[in-house]
Amino acid sequence: MRPFSYVRAAEQSAAIQTVSRNQEARFIAGGTNLIDLMKGGVTQPNELVDINRLPLTEITEIPNGLRIGALARNSDVANHPLVRDRYPLLSQALLAGASPQLRNMATVGGNMMQRTRCYYFTDTAMPCNKREPGSGCAAIEGYNRIHAIFGTSDKCIATHPSDMCVALAALEAVVRISGTNGDRVIPIADFHRLPGDTPEKDTVLEHGELIVAIDLPNSPYAARSHYLKVRDRASYAFAIVSVAAALDLDNGKIREARVVMGGVAHKPWRAVEAEKILVGSVANEKTFTAAAEATVKEAKPQKYNRFKVELARRAISRALTIAAEGVE
Ligand code: SF4
Repeated sequence: MRPFSYVRAAEQSAAIQTVSRNQEARFIAGGTNLIDLMKGGVTQPNELVDINRLPLTEITEIPNGLRIGALARNSDVANHPLVRDRYPLLSQALLAGASPQLRNMATVGGNMMQRTRCYYFTDTAMPCNKREPGSGCAAIEGYNRIHAIFGTSDKCIATHPSDMCVALAALEAVVRISGTNGDRVIPIADFHRLPGDTPEKDTVLEHGELIVAIDLPNSPYAARSHYLKVRDRASYAFAIVSVAAALDLDNGKIREARVVMGGVAHKPWRAVEAEKILVGSVANEKTFTAAAEATVKEAKPQKYNRFKVELARRAISRALTIAAEGVE
């Protein structure tokens, strides 16, 4: 591992300034992804700024919803009474991720910043445009079973690994950012990027900007929701396909709908065509099947992940059915 310096930040502004003035510095919180990447030589910062002592752990009510501090641990968020009561989708997604030990360490902000689990990204002997821009993409002609079927480019076909972010996208969360140029807010849909020509950039954050909180707006569909995760083993595995589905029903008719997929794209993938079909329709199997079919029509699978198309179709339909029944 490359030698690095370590500093524990006592203040948010000092942490931001320290990272901003050194392109090779990184914030560290739970460290559940970053430390692995450093050990493997995938990421090699020369300075770590520990932000664990910053006062960003609170989960508080705000006028139009709930604010979750960026340093709140995944376990604390998943088990918080207000989250469980008002945003069960988020609780389900968090509990579907990682292991209890990792959830106790991992923070909300770190979860948003985690890197892809593409095996060529973590294998430094292989070309990877995300790890080393311009080196090529070993996955496109390689074993691409876990890779994306939506929004890919000829530079990268990796998927975004977070379960939590899929739920946040369905709940239309807003990310609160602080940097040397001031504060800004970014809708979650605009926070993560598609790979395009610059797959090395996972998000729209500038170097040195810090996630300070996530705001969840009140919404009529947040309570009737379901997170469905399909994976290779029952726990401690990343999604092959996942679906966050949320519905607002009025006498059996769908007033509003959110369908977002995980494990299929470089960012949480909102199924806009599905939502168009759902809104105004009767909440039944026929509608859910039509919504699922419209979504997968746009899929562009790779050689080894064609199965994801059918899996996605079934997962969307199933998640919507469970959400409509109001079963957690
Ligand atoms: Fe790297 Fe992306 Fe290709 Fe994986 S899919 S090898 S992350 S460029």
